[in-house]
Amino acid sequence: MSQSVCILGVTGSIGQSTLKILEQHPEEYSVFAVTAHSRIVELVEICKQYRPKVVVVPAYKVDELQQFLARENLNDIEILQGEAGLIEVASLPEVDVVMAAIVGAAGLLPTLAAVKAGKRVLLANKEALVMSGDLMMQAVHDYKATLLPVDSEHNAIFQCLPEGYFQAERNGQPKMGVSRVLLTASGGPFLNHTLEQLEMVTPAQACKHPKWSMGQKISVDSATLMNKGLELIEACHLFAISEHFVTVVVHPQSIIHSMVQYVDGSTLAQMGNPDMCTPIAHALAWPKRIQTHVPPLDLFTHTHLNFQEPDTTRFPALKLARQAMQAGGLAPAILNAANEIAVAAFLNNQIGFTQIPNIVEATLNQLENNAADSVEVILQADCSARSIAQQLVMS
Ligand code: NDP
Ligand code: MG
Repeated sequence: MSQSVCILGVTGSIGQSTLKILEQHPEEYSVFAVTAHSRIVELVEICKQYRPKVVVVPAYKVDELQQFLARENLNDIEILQGEAGLIEVASLPEVDVVMAAIVGAAGLLPTLAAVKAGKRVLLANKEALVMSGDLMMQAVHDYKATLLPVDSEHNAIFQCLPEGYFQAERNGQPKMGVSRVLLTASGGPFLNHTLEQLEMVTPAQACKHPKWSMGQKISVDSATLMNKGLELIEACHLFAISEHFVTVVVHPQSIIHSMVQYVDGSTLAQMGNPDMCTPIAHALAWPKRIQTHVPPLDLFTHTHLNFQEPDTTRFPALKLARQAMQAGGLAPAILNAANEIAVAAFLNNQIGFTQIPNIVEATLNQLENNAADSVEVILQADCSARSIAQQLVMS
């Protein structure tokens, strides 16, 4: 039977790649609901092509969307609005699969709603898991949801782990013969920049990733290595291991997407051309495999695969994220919120590139770290961190 899909963040880079995969498999999947935030014209095009039953936009965009849809004779599409609308579509009984591809903290409540509705959740929105780690993973267990990693590294690790790994005890220790996770990082566009050069980089340069084409926020995160920091936290929660079992390896070619080491000396790697359609298709069809347009890897054109240690002096964001994971509690949510504000300020030309980690660190130092035992407490910390980071941007 065909699976009915809800795409949260359909107008984004992951949303578009998801549509590409679904389009290739019309018998297996149908688009039931989609959500957008600012790109209404693109959303209307998506509605014309995929005919979803429900769409969600912010309240102030509803009139504009209604007019566009009426012009296209698409009045039968139901429009829901705002955060309540996002939470509703993520948990509709008609929906089987939810692609969580909203960027940032805005995705937390809808992703959690999908988990609590016991859906098959394809997780791209790493910030949601970084903020709510234990709470989200507990909800996956309690509500019998299936949480599948879309982030290419985590999808790679998932593919390299032994079968049944997720049924094993969650105690921070690797198990079933696993000894370590190697999380690969491309190093971003400024891998070989000096500190002086880093001070001068522009938003346009930061958004031009050498290997992946992505949304603006994750592109800047890749350039600061905060993306790898968020992914370190993401890996600890997904795979129930403490941070000292995760080694970050810079691998500029982005051919190996991550690795798992075993106690017998084996290292398993997942490889492929860098295209998000592969992990999306894997998460969508798991445990089956489905066709994508991604060409198979031609190893004769990739004769050199390089590996190096990350430099946390030039890229302190990675160190900050590791420390936040060690500290636990609200620290990852504070780190994430401060980073979102600092990245937005950098994209707005209000601060320089090297100020991003400084603002994150100063925000972490200013806020008290408590237990992250409810969504309300997490959202409160997110809010306080945003206001402190905003003040730091202005000062
Ligand atoms: P984009 O910026 O391209 O897309 C973000 C999506 O979220 C858009 O649909 C956008 O709507 C929507 N959105 C933005 N703000 C809000 C908000 N406040 N409320 C509701 N919806 C909102 O991002 P990406 O697709 O690159 O990334 C999405 C997520 O996936 C991120 O968490 C990222 O870290 C993760 N990811 C992305 C990868 C990639 O290759 N792009 C790889 C691995 C993970 P609109 O466009 O209409 O404004
Ligand atoms: Mg990634």
